[in-house]
Amino acid sequence: MVPTATRTWVGLYARQHSLSRLLATVMVGVLGGVQTSECRAETTAFIGAKIIDGTGKAPIERGIMIVRDGRISAVGAVGDLAAPAGVKRVDVSDKIIIPGLINGHGHIGGTVGLQGGQYSRENVLRDLQLNARYGVTTVVSLGGDQAASVAVRDAENTPSLDRARLRVAGPVVVGKDPEEAMIRVDSSVQLGADFIKIKVDGAAGSRQRMSKEVFKAVIGYANARGVPVAAHLYYLDDARELVAAGVDYIAHSIRDRVVDDAFIAQARKAGVYYCPTLMRDVSTYIYESEPDFFADPLFLAEMGPGILDELRDPDRQSRIRTNLQAQENKDALRVALINLKKLADAGVPIVMGTDGGPPGRFQGYFEHLEMEMMVERAGLSPMQVIVAATGGAASSLKLTEVGTLESGKWADFLVLAKDPLADIAYTRSFESVWIAGNEVPRN
Ligand SMILES: [Zn+2]
Repeated sequence: MVPTATRTWVGLYARQHSLSRLLATVMVGVLGGVQTSECRAETTAFIGAKIIDGTGKAPIERGIMIVRDGRISAVGAVGDLAAPAGVKRVDVSDKIIIPGLINGHGHIGGTVGLQGGQYSRENVLRDLQLNARYGVTTVVSLGGDQAASVAVRDAENTPSLDRARLRVAGPVVVGKDPEEAMIRVDSSVQLGADFIKIKVDGAAGSRQRMSKEVFKAVIGYANARGVPVAAHLYYLDDARELVAAGVDYIAHSIRDRVVDDAFIAQARKAGVYYCPTLMRDVSTYIYESEPDFFADPLFLAEMGPGILDELRDPDRQSRIRTNLQAQENKDALRVALINLKKLADAGVPIVMGTDGGPPGRFQGYFEHLEMEMMVERAGLSPMQVIVAATGGAASSLKLTEVGTLESGKWADFLVLAKDPLADIAYTRSFESVWIAGNEVPRN
């Protein structure tokens, strides 16, 4: 057993001297040579919080969660479950614990400030640290991902992790005919993509529509190779065709029309999952004037120099006010909100996602606004939205080791001061974020 004083010293030393972290690990290893199997030096009990576990079950009002070597080893009510003797105890009485948030549609590593096209390994890691500081502990990056992202993903299976986890789609698959598109699917699969991403609509004339022939070929080919397909879309008619072709994941809202019963039935039967990305649409017009969130300290905490000045520029604002597409997105968003409620009520699995990461879509922070919109404007319950951002997202996206606070999962969670079941905006009341049982460092 490592004496408490030594453990504390090693911990302080590691925190204060990042380069010394390896040394600290070695020291624990050396001292750990005398540990027995009963030793609980790596075990921590979080005691007294209300625990919302991400499955949708009623919360445990006063719970205990035991974390060992980065994973949850037990969760229960105080009284039913006790902290084993000798473990580290963290008093979280009067707090609320929820699973780490999953952004089911982001883009990682490509933006610096308000500038896109900046992809690098360094920016991938910086973005994952940023997400983690906001409580987003897993990001599914749907497009723009290169080999560095795959390597970063593959390095995350460790109890020392303290940045967000990553899943990737690789480059968006395009092709003028099935053969060309299938070659691109092959190269994404070889890269190590978790998803294949396609865009089917023509983005109001700004890109080539993907023909039905091509997307059917892509979906069939990717599914045969065991890789799910996520689709960017806009129109209900495209959604019908995509679901009929076997698409796994609708990665944006249907925004041209309110969904009808035939589509709802089709979506349910197919088991397709749906990500509304409401904040993506908001981001297209919100900078026509100064958004309320410019006054939120949680937002401002991560703002780089000059970004707000650029967004406040009167010429920039006026260009957005007179941009037809941006203004039409306000109507599209109204349709999206109706469709989210209809699909969620019908039992179509909903995945929280923002399409965050590109310029002006502030990853980490926007996920909290997305959840608030899902409740306050679409009319979902706070519990529905928490599940869509945690356990429900994980089960749709096949993230088997995260998303819920259950035995065996990685200990990715938030400690909140206030209860998000009372007001979903309280997801922003997090006091600490934990990934694999490690507290995420602050700036
Ligand atoms: Zn996207």
